[in-house]
Amino acid sequence: MLAEAAQENRSETAANAPEVEWSRVIGQLKEEIGDIAYRSWLAPINVQRVDGGEAVIAAPARLYRDWVASHYADRILALWRAENRQVKRISVVVASPSHASRSFAAISESSIELSQAPVVLSGELGTTVEIGEDRPQPCGLDPRFTFENFVVGKPNELAHAAARRVAEACSAASRSVPFNPLFLYGGVGLGKTHLMHAIAWDVHKHACFRKVIYLSAEKFMHQFIRALRFKSTMDFKDEFRSVDLLMIDDVQFISGKESTQEEFFHTFNALVDQNRQIVISADKPPSDLEGLEDRMRSRLGWGLVADLHPTTYELRLGILQSKAEQANVDIPRKVLELLAHRITSNVRELEGALNRIIANMQLVGREITLESAQEELHDLLRLRERRVTIDEIQRRVAEHFNVRFAEMTSARRARAFARPRQVAMYLSKQLTSRSLPEIGRKFGGRDHTTVMHAVRRIEELKDTDPVLAEDVELLRRMLQG
Ligand code: ADP
Ligand code: MG
Repeated sequence: MLAEAAQENRSETAANAPEVEWSRVIGQLKEEIGDIAYRSWLAPINVQRVDGGEAVIAAPARLYRDWVASHYADRILALWRAENRQVKRISVVVASPSHASRSFAAISESSIELSQAPVVLSGELGTTVEIGEDRPQPCGLDPRFTFENFVVGKPNELAHAAARRVAEACSAASRSVPFNPLFLYGGVGLGKTHLMHAIAWDVHKHACFRKVIYLSAEKFMHQFIRALRFKSTMDFKDEFRSVDLLMIDDVQFISGKESTQEEFFHTFNALVDQNRQIVISADKPPSDLEGLEDRMRSRLGWGLVADLHPTTYELRLGILQSKAEQANVDIPRKVLELLAHRITSNVRELEGALNRIIANMQLVGREITLESAQEELHDLLRLRERRVTIDEIQRRVAEHFNVRFAEMTSARRARAFARPRQVAMYLSKQLTSRSLPEIGRKFGGRDHTTVMHAVRRIEELKDTDPVLAEDVELLRRMLQG
């Protein structure tokens, strides 16, 4: 009797296993990613089955599937394996209630293996299958990272134009290669990955028969090591050398990793010889990449090197407006201005702040006002404000240009004093939340129009005078660092 009960218990546990495992996995993931992301993306996901080495989870729509596959699949797999070592692969399928009775073939699938495959986009090789009027959809690419969603401004216009050019040339019937490689570089969160995904989406849209591979340098290395281990280096080479467009993100990652560099170098040369397009991104220009062989470094600089500069206030405001529009929420302009002024480090943080405000509004049902936004982002904004004060800016700028601190507030109009003063006013506008009249007062009781003039003047000069542009950039970094 007892034995029987125990037996029944066991079989019940076995039958429940996928649900139990899944609930543990998402329980853990929820801790890691927070309540809002959990509710937005994971709560609607259900487990379907665990079969052999494969765990299948179901999303209610393609958007969820793509998002979960590109953002959480790695982590889900790792957590699942901690529960059940048998699981080697996670598949995310779209299964709306009406799909439930259809055959499995009607379900679009996106899966991730233990050692994740690069994103491969191509007619024959599509990693996903979608029945219906849609073409195969690539997984692993962020659906939001398109050209349409990329806001162009002075700091990123060259990189954007170059990326567009590459996408067009690659899609054209007479596939051409405008510059090889296109090398995009810039600080964290300025849009390098966004532009690369945008190229991939664009080529996919206009010429889905082209073979495009996008992957991070880190994944490139893991793939290569895996190929070495499984003695499949020929396949590895064939895979990479048969592409029309190869994009490798964050190439600084392979600094100092010699054999990966070696392989990358050969792949690179083989593709260049065959006139195939390569796009590379890094956090620094080729000449500053340390731990890279000289021949590699010089080769990387052969094509077009385009940098993404730190954002300006105007660009940040533009990005916020576009994101608010995409999210389909009405946010008072004052709130967007506050964010654009105060969160200057990178676009990712800016987006994070905006999302917090939107989530708060949607969850608590509260209207967004300047006050509620300030309250919601209290910690974030205080942190920034503490960082830079006008006094500090004046002191640093005076030191940098070698003028006395008193010149910041003096009435002297000689350029040697006026220019540093204008730079300090400009930086005060950029880096603090003070209004023009407040800034004017801090600069010896000047009028707000003087401050406005100074801000405009420096903006103009930054475009025409590279030395000044560099001074301003350096000061900005010092003050924010
Ligand atoms: P990077 O790869 O340079 O570190 P990402 O491309 O990941 O930066 O960008 C970080 C975030 O900022 C992404 O969500 C991206 O969509 C957004 N972003 C960056 N620049 C822009 C832009 N010009 N327009 C719209 N979104 C942007
Ligand atoms: Mg990136």
